Amino acid sequence: MKAVIVGAGMGGMSAAIALRQLGVHVEVYEQVSENKPVGAAISVWSNGVKCLNHLGLEREAAELGGILDSMSYVDGFTGDTMCRFSMQPLIDEVGQRPYPMARAELQLMLMNAYGYDDIHFGKKMVAVHDGAERATVEFADGTTDSADIVIGADGAKSLTREYVLGGPVQRRYAGYVNFNGLVEVDENIGPATEWTTYVGDSRRVSVMPVAGNRFYFFFDVPMPAGVPFERGTAREVLAEEFADWAPGVQTLIGTLDPTTTNRVEILDLDPFDTWVKGRVAVLGDAAHNTTPDVGQGGCLAMEDAVALQFAFRDHPDDPLAALAAYQSARTERAGDLVLRARKRCDVTHGKDPEKTAAWYDELRGEDGTNIIRGIVGNIVGGPLT
Ligand code: FAD
Repeated sequence: MKAVIVGAGMGGMSAAIALRQLGVHVEVYEQVSENKPVGAAISVWSNGVKCLNHLGLEREAAELGGILDSMSYVDGFTGDTMCRFSMQPLIDEVGQRPYPMARAELQLMLMNAYGYDDIHFGKKMVAVHDGAERATVEFADGTTDSADIVIGADGAKSLTREYVLGGPVQRRYAGYVNFNGLVEVDENIGPATEWTTYVGDSRRVSVMPVAGNRFYFFFDVPMPAGVPFERGTAREVLAEEFADWAPGVQTLIGTLDPTTTNRVEILDLDPFDTWVKGRVAVLGDAAHNTTPDVGQGGCLAMEDAVALQFAFRDHPDDPLAALAAYQSARTERAGDLVLRARKRCDVTHGKDPEKTAAWYDELRGEDGTNIIRGIVGNIVGGPLT
C-alpha cells in the first residue's frame, strides 16, 4: 500500500506518521521549501495531545507544552478578575493535560518524527486525479506521483477539496482579525501557568504558557475584512485599538515584537460531508476549516490522522473501504466543532452585543464548572475519546 500526502502541516505530518506505523509506504509533498508555519502557537487540547501520544510523541509533546494549571477571565478595562479556576477537574475528567505549543516547534517535532529529509519540499501540487487502480498528483515542476491513495492535507485553501467537491467553495469571514505572537513570560500580564483572557468591548486579549518561559499571546479585534495592514506596525495598531485597556494589556503591547507579530483575518467554512472521491481524500483544514474560537482545528487534524490509521488497520487491503470508513468516522464530529466554534465566535465578538454582555455577566459569576464542561464537550468524541 502506498499513500501520497500533500501538505506537511500538522495534519499531513500526523497522517504520514500514522500510516507509516501501519507499514504503509508514504510520500509527503509540501509546496514551501522549509518548515515555516504561519502563526505563533496553538493550544493542543487533551484530545490532540492523546493523538500525539498515540503517534509515539508523548515525551516530546510534554517537553514542548506549556503548563496550564489554571484559567482566568479579566475585565479588559479595569483589570479586575472576573473568574479564576483550576484546570485540574478538566485534566481529571479527560485523563490528559492540554499543552499549548509553539507552532514551529510542534511542526518540527512531527517532521523529525517522520524524517525531515524524507519530506519532498518545494513541490506544489497543481492537479490531482482519481483512477481505477491509482490516484495521481501533478506538481508545478511537471513531475507526477501515483499511489493507492492521495490524502490532501493541503490546508484551508485546499486544491484537493476542490477536486473532491467538484468545484471551489467560498469561505466565510468571521468578522474579526487575530494578532498573535510569542513573548517572554511576564507576570504583570498574567500568572506564568495560567491561561489569562482579558475581555471587553467584544474583544479578547489572551496569554497562555508554552515551553521555554514564553507566553503565546493573541488579540482579537472585530473589524471589516480587507482593512490594510503593514507588517511591523502591530504595536502602533494595538496601542490605538486598546488605548484605554488595563495595565496588563499595555505591558503586553509594550513587550511584543511587532516584526514577528502575525495578523490573520479569521475565516471558516460551512461543514460538508463529502471528504472522499474514489482514492482521493481530504484531511485537516482541507476537510473542516474552523474559526479558532474553541482551539480545535489542529486537534481535529490530528484526530483525522488517527481515524485514518484506524480505518486502514480495519481495511488493510481495501483502500476504498478504508477511505469510506474514515469519512463516516469523521464528518459529524468535525462539522459539530466547526459550528460550535462559530457560535462561540459570535458570542465572544459581539455579533449580538446583548449576548456578549450577558456572557460577561456570566463570567463574573462563574466558578469554572460551566466553562470546563464546555471545553470537555469539545475534547471528547474523537477516535481516542
Ligand atoms: P496547514 O497547517 O495549513 O498545512 C497545510 C500545508 O499544506 C501547508 O504547509 C501548505 O504549505 C501545504 N500546501 C497547501 N497547498 C499545497 C499544494 N498545492 N501543494 C503542496 N503543498 C500544499 N488549532 C488548534 O487545535 N488549537 C489552537 O489553539 C488553534 N489556534 C489557531 C489560531 C489561529 C489564529 C488560526 C488561524 C488557527 C488556529 N488553529 C488552532 C487551527 C490550526 O492552525 C489548523 O487547524 C491547522 O494548522 C490545520 O493543519 P493542516 O495540516 O490541516 O493545515
